Amino acid sequence: MAERTKCLILGGGPAGFTAAIYASRANLSPILYEGIQPGGQLTTTTIVENFPGFPGGVDANTLMDSMREQARSFGVDIRSGSASAVDFGSRPLRVTIDGATVLEADTVIIATGAEAKYLGLSSEMKYRGGGVSACATCDGFFYRNRTVAVVGGGDTACEEALYLSGIANKVYMIVRRDVLRASKAMAARVMEKENIEILWNCNTQEVLGDGFSVTGARLLRKDGTVFDIDIDGFFLAIGHSPASGLFAQWLETDPAGYIVTKGKTSCTSVEGVFAAGDVQDPRYRQAVTAAASGCMAARDAEQYLLENN
Ligand code: NDP
Repeated sequence: MAERTKCLILGGGPAGFTAAIYASRANLSPILYEGIQPGGQLTTTTIVENFPGFPGGVDANTLMDSMREQARSFGVDIRSGSASAVDFGSRPLRVTIDGATVLEADTVIIATGAEAKYLGLSSEMKYRGGGVSACATCDGFFYRNRTVAVVGGGDTACEEALYLSGIANKVYMIVRRDVLRASKAMAARVMEKENIEILWNCNTQEVLGDGFSVTGARLLRKDGTVFDIDIDGFFLAIGHSPASGLFAQWLETDPAGYIVTKGKTSCTSVEGVFAAGDVQDPRYRQAVTAAASGCMAARDAEQYLLENN
């Protein structure tokens, strides 16, 4: 017989653990599966300086270990494993873990996160953490009065370039077409900034470095010209992929694959299924917003169980 739980949480990032802490304190006895990347996306960065409560910053892994420990202290059943199949078409909801264990759940909180897209260059991988980043809000601070590049021409790239332009001396935007995909308003703000220079029709061939840190990038313009720029930081802003593929058959998602939640709640298009964190948030994508939405999901699950007993 399948194991039964009142509340199953998928994902071991800030959203999942916060949901688990709240759900456990509400006596829902949650089971949490950590997924492929325990600790979530945050563990791919180093120091987190913008999570409130840590005036000196906090190591990302330490922060996630603390969240895990806090969840455990409230009795959360934390397990390793990832959902491999779901059936949200009948009650109870059914989730298969790693193709083997089937759980039946009254509520499911999806907090599986998202992953930043990279160009796929080996030099880009080599300098991850040494100047290559996919989060200006997280790492921009290190580039005060320096020169950086942002790849992409969407709203995120513009937002990151604008943010960095307030910190760095000079910001290049590497845009592969001759137009920005971003909204008109955002594009206009970028154009107005004197220290942002857009390199149109350019693709990155290679990230250049000294073995430890980024020193430049080699670009190929559509007309065939190859040229180098000197930079200290290389920021990717070419989109994110939400980890929602498994659920797309059952839940409403937007064109980019983000799970759609209703109004200011975590409710999805299926009753009893809630989404929290980056898997439902194309816009803010911060550890603190993910944690907050995890709290919302646990409260919504609690309310749902009260109403549906
Ligand atoms: P988008 O998909 O909108 O934009 C991605 C950008 O990266 C495009 O310019 C695209 O180029 C470029 N790109 C993609 N792949 C590559 C590649 N391999 N090499 C070079 N360039 C590449 O993603 P965003 O993250 O910008 O935005 C996601 C969603 O979130 C959008 O709906 C956006 O409007 C929204 N958003 C809204 C904000 C706001 O309103 N303040 C802030 C941030 C995001 P191309 O155009 O040629 O395809």
